[in-house]
Amino acid sequence: MPTHTANSIPPLDLRAQYGSIREEIQTALQSVLESQIFILGAQVHALEEELAAYCGTRFAIGVASGTDALLLALYAWGVRPEDEVIVPAFSYIATADVVSLLGAKPVFADIEAATFTLDPGKLERLVTKRTRAIIPVHIYGQTANMEPLLQFARQHKLQVIEDAAQAIGATYRGKRAGSIGEVGCLSFYPTKNLGGYGDGGMILTNSSEMHEKLRALRMHGETRKYVSAEQGWNSRLDEIQAAVLRVKLRHLEAWNSIRRAHAKSYTEALANVRGVTPPKVAEWGDHVFHQYTVRVPRRDEVQRALANDGIAATVYYPVPLHLQPIYTHLGHASGSLPEAERAAAECLSLPIYPEMSSEQVSRVAEALVHATQL
Ligand SMILES: *Cc1c(COP(=O)(O)O)cnc(C)c1O
Repeated sequence: MPTHTANSIPPLDLRAQYGSIREEIQTALQSVLESQIFILGAQVHALEEELAAYCGTRFAIGVASGTDALLLALYAWGVRPEDEVIVPAFSYIATADVVSLLGAKPVFADIEAATFTLDPGKLERLVTKRTRAIIPVHIYGQTANMEPLLQFARQHKLQVIEDAAQAIGATYRGKRAGSIGEVGCLSFYPTKNLGGYGDGGMILTNSSEMHEKLRALRMHGETRKYVSAEQGWNSRLDEIQAAVLRVKLRHLEAWNSIRRAHAKSYTEALANVRGVTPPKVAEWGDHVFHQYTVRVPRRDEVQRALANDGIAATVYYPVPLHLQPIYTHLGHASGSLPEAERAAAECLSLPIYPEMSSEQVSRVAEALVHATQL
């Protein structure tokens, strides 16, 4: 267990962030309380417009979580039982379990060692007649290599649904994460770069057809009040979340640049340390460092040594998706997706958050250097 002293460094510090925006948040919450409108009101509407503008899409649809954003996007595109959807084997479980929840089959693809994102070179043999979509995950805050993925998707008539849950604000050749495929999905889980004070999510799209479908799907398929043309969900974003998120959106660019500055300091400090591979920033865009994730071969030992120093380094994610217990029935052998498995064994995310001081960044880097030489 980490030793909790005044000197300890958490993975992130939401209380410090709240301290820096307390008055703005309280004013925003007060106005929701005075309005007594809690679901899909003016705040949600304004957030949808602001996020569509920020990310560069025509439409944005607020939903109850990032998971629901993915689920509704797949359903709206027509993914049904027996269909197949290609997902990277290295991600948070939500990327795959939305597929299986719809009765469809997640087909796992390996990742690129350097960026931890879907490897466009390893997709060809995964496509069947039933493949409907592909979900690139912009893991840790960096976009996947989208151009070859889009080209592959066009060739095989697959829809591209971006899982941009960790990457709001990141770019790929000048385009924001979530605005590159047909649909992009954001999460406002509290620890994300744009986090609410509860669950929330957003779907981004340029397609007016998808936009209309998704608006209906999040509210029982209603196309008019109390008239449902098809089955849907209750997956709505609430006014309190939207009010908080609108305040935080005004700070997002500044926060993301501090994350980038901290990442730069880490990489400088770790550049020539044997046994540590700092994350690569791909030439195709801006990384927003939702996580700063290094590779260390003796990962568990190093993590324990850091914990003894009061530093909370975290493993996202220890088990690749194809080897998750819920997918045992799919029969994937250990060793079948080697890069995803190696990432799961070696990845270690260091504390990174905008309220972190440069001294704390140096202390973490020094502790890591020390831990790897033990
Ligand atoms: C957080 C996350 C999700 C799910 O978002 P929720 O809002 O927690 O439902 C999906 N995919 C990835 C990669 C995530 O990091």
